Amino acid sequence: LASGDGTVRPTIFAEMSALAAATGSANLGQGFPDEDGPAWIREAAVDAIRAGENQYPPGRGIQRLREAIAGHQSRHYGIDLDPDTEVLVTAGATEALTAAILALAGPGDEVVTLEPFYDSHAAAIAMAGATHVTVPLVPSGGGFAVDRAVLSAAVTPHTKLILVNSPHNPTGTVLTREELSDIAATAVAADAIVITDEVYEHLVFDGASHIPIATLPGMRERTLTISSAGKTFSLTGWKVGWVAGPAHLIEAVLAVKQFLTYSGGAPFQPAIASALTDGDADIAELRETLDARRELLLASLTRAGFTSVRPQGTYFVCADATPFLTDAVPDGAAFARWLPAHAGVACVPLSAFCRAGSETADALSNWVRFTFVKDDATLATAIERLETRL
Ligand code: PMP
Ligand code: GLN
Repeated sequence: LASGDGTVRPTIFAEMSALAAATGSANLGQGFPDEDGPAWIREAAVDAIRAGENQYPPGRGIQRLREAIAGHQSRHYGIDLDPDTEVLVTAGATEALTAAILALAGPGDEVVTLEPFYDSHAAAIAMAGATHVTVPLVPSGGGFAVDRAVLSAAVTPHTKLILVNSPHNPTGTVLTREELSDIAATAVAADAIVITDEVYEHLVFDGASHIPIATLPGMRERTLTISSAGKTFSLTGWKVGWVAGPAHLIEAVLAVKQFLTYSGGAPFQPAIASALTDGDADIAELRETLDARRELLLASLTRAGFTSVRPQGTYFVCADATPFLTDAVPDGAAFARWLPAHAGVACVPLSAFCRAGSETADALSNWVRFTFVKDDATLATAIERLETRL
């Protein structure tokens, strides 16, 4: 497939969810909520179906949703967008990312990402035939951090794109203004375009604030900002995402998007338009619920014997499984495949977010990721099992 380097393969999330189902495990592997988002938003989609919004929406997305996305960016971040030319609705953030990378990078171009990275980022780079260059984000002082020198060394005259992801899957890191400024300066110096994956933009804790890199000086004109309603409103299966940025870059992404899906999600688009306009209280409630679950999971992992990193954002906690490794279960990947049958809990190894054999893969080889976006009963079952069966 594609690059032939093994990057485009069945995702770890499908494998771990299948294993969780087969073993009756509490699934803290794949990151999706098991409680659906607000009823009033779901009702709005039902109303749209009844009202006949069931045929192809426009390729760019319906006007009302593009206006709501522009309104959301303006209200939360002070980013002003022309909804007609600077916003494109996509089939989730996944399509936005793939269309943007296919549109802007090809053979001979280098695309820089942090490592670990979300798996679809690497797959899209491989499908584009571009070269993937990574900057390690490794445990440091109780968190994960970007090293400025490593970042600037990763950039070459061939660097076409820098792909940022904050809040970051899998580590839960929320990049600081300083880290984002370093990335911005590097992008300007290399004349690179930045693509930023901000799907967890509203899921931040401990007073951390999400800073879109497009708001930094000189960045608006070279940044494509990608997000999705899936995480913000616990409606991951609706696959309503978007990309926002300068009109000429949006045009390029639209050209590719036409031949991936053309358009989609007709009845979901008006419902998400309403959610983005009137759903701020729901977002705040979700953040509080998740914050409490994050605390429960962190405390339980400590009691069970893991060392974990306190995430400032996302759905995820990363933990070092070294105390549980043996000759038969030698690393995080083996541990994640062993845990469901042994303890009735599923997780995901961090090696799935790394390039095989990289320095980061080595540093994180014993680490796994647990999600806390599960209902109270599932989380309680998982916690009880981790504490008594390990
Ligand atoms: N980017 C990141 C970092 C993610 O974690 C996910 C999925 N959870 C996506 C993109 C995909 O988003 P969507 O479901 O909207 O395609
Ligand atoms: N983004 C989710 C996660 O990181 C999974 C989505 C998927 O299965 N592709 O767990």
